[in-house]
Amino acid sequence: MAKPVTQTNCHCPCGESGFSYHGTPVLRFFCHCSICQQVYGKPFADIVALRSKQIALPPENDIEFSKHRLPPAVNRGVCKSCNRPVAGFLPVVPGFGLAFIPAANLPAAELPEPSMHNFYHRRVADINDELPKVSGYWKSQWAVTASFLTALFPATFRRG
Ligand SMILES: [Zn+2]
Ligand SMILES: [Zn+2]
Repeated sequence: MAKPVTQTNCHCPCGESGFSYHGTPVLRFFCHCSICQQVYGKPFADIVALRSKQIALPPENDIEFSKHRLPPAVNRGVCKSCNRPVAGFLPVVPGFGLAFIPAANLPAAELPEPSMHNFYHRRVADINDELPKVSGYWKSQWAVTASFLTALFPATFRRG
């Protein structure tokens, strides 16, 4: 029996930039890339990934979007009040995109277990945990996409 689709409210640290998502988060990972370090103001970012279409931003909002590198680039939304990340969007193919939300913006009870450390070659400090460490730009990109698709379509991608 299918679970009823739930709506979860999220917000930036200051609370000015609220938004919601439906369903469940797909993936959680730690990103050590230099852009995350800069945008999050931390050695690495704790990120939850969903499908873009799961996210609903209010039409009137205080979020400023910008891209920090050449394509494929995440369109990163930052709250104009607290200057903290709200949500980022990465279009993959028409009709399918990823959304990235800081774990701190979600209710703690909704957080999935972290799956890996990404862009580990950019790390500020070594991490002592059991999670896989992925280094290299394309390897890191691919690890997120592959893990996301595996989590989203387990029957399709775990075969063979
Ligand atoms: Zn990053
Ligand atoms: Zn804010």
